[in-house]
Amino acid sequence: MNNKYKHIFFDLDHTLWDFESNSHETLLDMFEEFSVLKTGVNDKHHFIKRYYHHNEIYWEQFRKGELSREELRHIRFRTTLNEFDIDDEELVKQLAVSYLEILPTKTNLFHDTIEVLDYLTTKYSMHIITNGFEEVQLKKIVNTGIGKYFKYIITSEAAGSQKPEPAIFRFAMQLTNAEIKNSMFVGDSIEADINGAKAVGMDYVFYNPKKTPHKEKVMYEISALSELKKIL
Ligand SMILES: [Mg+2]
Repeated sequence: MNNKYKHIFFDLDHTLWDFESNSHETLLDMFEEFSVLKTGVNDKHHFIKRYYHHNEIYWEQFRKGELSREELRHIRFRTTLNEFDIDDEELVKQLAVSYLEILPTKTNLFHDTIEVLDYLTTKYSMHIITNGFEEVQLKKIVNTGIGKYFKYIITSEAAGSQKPEPAIFRFAMQLTNAEIKNSMFVGDSIEADINGAKAVGMDYVFYNPKKTPHKEKVMYEISALSELKKIL
């Protein structure tokens, strides 16, 4: 146990909840559900790859405020379908809705998520700070059964601010009665989590499961959540 800390704040997507596996399963399910995809797209894996390519670009625009949430939900499918010569706005709408319906029902966590939460739960107060849609993020937490580990779930939607903005961290401090100096943040995104924690002076752990090279100076870096046991 590290006596410096009372509160551990976790990011959700790509940190506890295995977003990539869950998203991949969702897109495969959608292939089964929408026959037009099966007939219009030869290689579903290629389609999924292109979807991710576009999704990343549009998420970046959403983060910068250049796209609304609704636009993001649709344009990522519209652009991908267009690449496969499918021009079907009704299908775009159905896919946008279906993706958000199926995704939060998926329950893949990282292999050591539960082990680490079990270890930490007796020692610290734990909370989640997540950029995402309130309804979607809460469903993920309920469906995976990890809700019992967390006192507060703070979404960007509820906070009216998103990581890395200091406002969402201050909102979280107030809500949880935590202080920056007795809090630790654990997240996978340098841009949102690490820069956000840095901006408010909070200690942090950068979770880098793929050991992606970077030039950032970081306080702690781990490639498996179980390594948190050495720090905390
Ligand atoms: Mg994340």
